[in-house]
Amino acid sequence: MSPQNTALCFMLSVLGLALCTTYSDEAKAQNTQTQATYAVVEPPKCTNDKGENVRFIDSSKGRAGMASGMAIRDQNGKPVVLRNNYSNTPPEFQSFIDRHECAHHQTGDVDRPHPPRNSSAHLMNESISDCVAILRIRDEEGYDRAGFLKVATALRNEMAKIGFPEISISSRISNIDNCYTEYGSPQDFINGVLKQRGLI
Ligand SMILES: [Zn+2]
Repeated sequence: MSPQNTALCFMLSVLGLALCTTYSDEAKAQNTQTQATYAVVEPPKCTNDKGENVRFIDSSKGRAGMASGMAIRDQNGKPVVLRNNYSNTPPEFQSFIDRHECAHHQTGDVDRPHPPRNSSAHLMNESISDCVAILRIRDEEGYDRAGFLKVATALRNEMAKIGFPEISISSRISNIDNCYTEYGSPQDFINGVLKQRGLI
């Protein structure tokens, strides 16, 4: 399977908006001119379900001015996270994308057949990765409610930029809010997922 097929794309995945949607050059230029830029954060530790170290690679691929991430295996079969245009989103959200993409490695998504876009299995994978990401940020970075709200606000802004409808934005935020408030450690949560999948 090509890396393209196994790629799990962060920002465009929730409702299956395709990366291949074309945008006019004019719109791109406008985006880049009005973008604020931020320092890029250090990536977190990330190990996949097979104990392999996951490398983070900064990149400027993807839609200009749009931060996104992608969890894949590279040409040599090594697990990586591509960090696209991170300087275009606030640090809190960069950390969230990193951990979301890492979660696709931690839960074994990257090595499993990629469910069809928009399928409930696909949306479930995305909700799981979002949940792991917010639990890690909560426990590793000590994010309190104010920190959580920064992530939620950035998530809202990024999804609105892409044109997601309000219902998908609010349901995604409500999912991470529920995880942040109700769930225990990220590792326990990941173990539950791996058990359910028969991976441990
Ligand atoms: Zn994802």
